[in-house]
Amino acid sequence: MKRAFKYRFYPTDAQAAELLRTFGCVRKVYNMALAARSEAWTLRRERVDYNATSAMLTGWKKTEELAYLSKVSSVPLQQTLRHLQGAFSNFWQKRAKYPTFKSRKKSRRSAEYTTSGFRFRDGRLTLAKMTDPLDIVWSRPLPAGASPSTVTVSQDAAGRWFVSVLCDDRPAMPTPVNDAVGVDVGVASLVTLSTGERITNPRHERKDRERLARAQRDLSRKAEGDGSNRAKARLRVGRAYARIADRRRDFLHKLTTRLVRENQTIVIEDLTVRNMLRNRRLSRAISDASWTELRSMLEYKADWYGREVIAVDRWFPSSKLCSACGTLESRMPLDVREWTCACGTTHDRDVNAARNILAAGLAVAACGDGVRPQRSTPGGQSSVKQEVVPPPRSRAAAQP
Ligand SMILES: [Zn+2]
Repeated sequence: MKRAFKYRFYPTDAQAAELLRTFGCVRKVYNMALAARSEAWTLRRERVDYNATSAMLTGWKKTEELAYLSKVSSVPLQQTLRHLQGAFSNFWQKRAKYPTFKSRKKSRRSAEYTTSGFRFRDGRLTLAKMTDPLDIVWSRPLPAGASPSTVTVSQDAAGRWFVSVLCDDRPAMPTPVNDAVGVDVGVASLVTLSTGERITNPRHERKDRERLARAQRDLSRKAEGDGSNRAKARLRVGRAYARIADRRRDFLHKLTTRLVRENQTIVIEDLTVRNMLRNRRLSRAISDASWTELRSMLEYKADWYGREVIAVDRWFPSSKLCSACGTLESRMPLDVREWTCACGTTHDRDVNAARNILAAGLAVAACGDGVRPQRSTPGGQSSVKQEVVPPPRSRAAAQP
């Protein structure tokens, strides 16, 4: 769920000028797009959509008299066109009156920035076309690890400045129980932890799979010509499949939330699914385990809650190495579930692998060398795109 947090802020003279310029351009673009839409409708009975107005904006910026529109950030201008689209949708669905022009005096002065139009780092918010962060009075903290998706700047009739920050609202994460855990993704168990705990595939999965297989057999028996029965059979296959996917995702969410909640650092193997699918015996288990999904959930949840995910090289011999003495076995076939090293330690294959993964990850963290993977951050999060100039110096802004 998204929640807005509103604060007062005190712009520098340059910032105030930039914002007032932006408000003016937002109003201008909104009014011109509204005029174009009204004209197209009254004269030609044509509906103009958001994309068309966006193309118009590009054209306007190229004309001499409207060239000033390209001086401000384009993000609030695009956003106001989206708002206009929303206003028209509401009108067509009879939820609102026909949109009206924004007036210089009466309309709310505001500009909305999406992630490409601002930068939020270490509790400091910097808008596009500005070098310094805003001097915000953090009257209440943002949720820990929050990453704002939209920032709206406004000025009220009394001349006071406000910034409204839209964030995902989620519960604060408690302090982790463990420093670090190693996670082995396996065949016999879904995952095995370096603590020795095994987490198996959910119990209902086998039953769901049987139902899916039955539905698929049923579908393949239906003759091509038998229209309605075939359609029903296809629907049953679709439902059975969706049920498996839903339940598995639900299970993975619970598992990854638990791992992130309990551990500060989570070490996993940097498996690439493409390589593993070549191994037919592993392929079923891997697709069942939805390895990619598990990893991406771990990574974005770790990002949210200030935990760390380290992936160790996938060529690292986690199964063949004795986690007690470090001896490397020459071969370790997949069907060997338990083995005894020359040092006398008897290992469970998966627990041993998880311990090795943990040790390798901690070594990586300690020396900071390059086995670390590229972190894939989810859509737009904390990624600052064009337009934003990094702040050259830190201002004494209050931290959230
Ligand atoms: Zn050993």
